Amino acid sequence: MHFCPFCATLLSLERSTTFRYACATCRYVYPIHGVHRHDVVVPQSKFASGAMTADDLTDSVAMQGQPTTEARCANVDCPGMQAFYVQMQIRSADEPPTTFYECTRCKTRWRTD
Ligand SMILES: [Zn+2]
Ligand SMILES: [Zn+2]
Repeated sequence: MHFCPFCATLLSLERSTTFRYACATCRYVYPIHGVHRHDVVVPQSKFASGAMTADDLTDSVAMQGQPTTEARCANVDCPGMQAFYVQMQIRSADEPPTTFYECTRCKTRWRTD
């Protein structure tokens, strides 16, 4: 079982272009390929009302322990080439999910649409 790291909702399996887990409350998605986590960090469920924004999420989510990927840090002064990441479906369901990153070196956060 997988729980949403943002609002602790139980994720449901859904099928889009690939299988993935999805949160019905805040649209967090967890693509199923490669990395699996068993120790999901569950934050306070302050977003369960649905009144949160993507920026709220990036400020509050525990990125530590999320899967990491090769990504050039958004901070030009940092040589970091690896970042924690999570994906959220913050636009319509047909669009690719937005990816949020946190540099593993300097903790800078950024996102790509
Ligand atoms: Zn959620
Ligand atoms: Zn960095």
